[in-house]
Amino acid sequence: MDYNKQARIDLHIHSTASDGTFSPSEILDLAQKLNLKAIAITDHDTIDGSKEAIALGIPPSVKFLTGIEISASSPPSFPCSESFHILGYSIRLDDPALNKTLEILQQARKNRNPQIIERLNDLGIDLTLKEVIDKVGECQLGRPHIAQLMLKKGYVESISEAFNKYLGKGKPAYVDKYRIDCAQAIEIILGAGGIPVIAHPFLLKFKNDALLEDLILSLKEMGLKGIEVYYSEHRADQTANYADIANRHGLLMTGGTDFHGSLKPDIKMGYGKGDLLVPYELYEKLVRK
Ligand code: AMP
Ligand code: ZN
Ligand code: FE
Ligand code: FE
Repeated sequence: MDYNKQARIDLHIHSTASDGTFSPSEILDLAQKLNLKAIAITDHDTIDGSKEAIALGIPPSVKFLTGIEISASSPPSFPCSESFHILGYSIRLDDPALNKTLEILQQARKNRNPQIIERLNDLGIDLTLKEVIDKVGECQLGRPHIAQLMLKKGYVESISEAFNKYLGKGKPAYVDKYRIDCAQAIEIILGAGGIPVIAHPFLLKFKNDALLEDLILSLKEMGLKGIEVYYSEHRADQTANYADIANRHGLLMTGGTDFHGSLKPDIKMGYGKGDLLVPYELYEKLVRK
């Protein structure tokens, strides 16, 4: 059997620059230990994790792609659930337009966190932004960090309970954040020399597959180049369906676990819930683009 075909990669990893609990250095170490052939750090709306990994030096046994996961809004004709995320690979980290846009998105997140805390306080949950910052340090704070503190203080028994009861969309402490629209997210990634990919399509929760395919076609017109076909939470039939859509429309396939360390305790880097295998050949096709 061709070894490369069995070799595994993970192109969806969060670091401490956003809401992962492993630093870029720990991610590089773990990738080597797990014998992952290629990885990408794809933090929410920040490229600081990718920058740090490159500054540290990438070990020769691991191929590395710079990455980003931008929270965007879906096209108005395709309203979908909250997690409309555009991944970008092989972006130039010093691209001025990309950095400028990320600064705006980071500021929007900063404005949102105190509003979430205020709502929690109103609901009788006693925590402050300072406590969250003291616990996780200098990084881009988001709801998972708030959930982590709620867990620590005994208000919930798990991070998912915090989302399901308080922080998730439609729940009493949910505050929406400013997003750029998907056309702009795709344009910014392309402008930085990168490859825009629609993340975890199963989360978009369309009523039927035809709608998802129509959305992907309209994103392709905006410049989308790929679909995240392999993902920790995709069932086999979903993976097959997304691969079929990618093949029929000449789109690249990518895949990754969405590793967040202890913030998503059931997801292992490179392995997802245990049985995910993202083949190395996807990486090869991506870099040939
Ligand atoms: P934010 O960046 O604040 O919008 O939070 C997004 C993060 O929250 C992502 O890492 C998601 O995976 C995580 N998240 C969203 N919904 C849930 C949920 N129901 N349970 C656990 N984590 C979630
Ligand atoms: Zn996250
Ligand atoms: Fe995501
Ligand atoms: Fe993610």
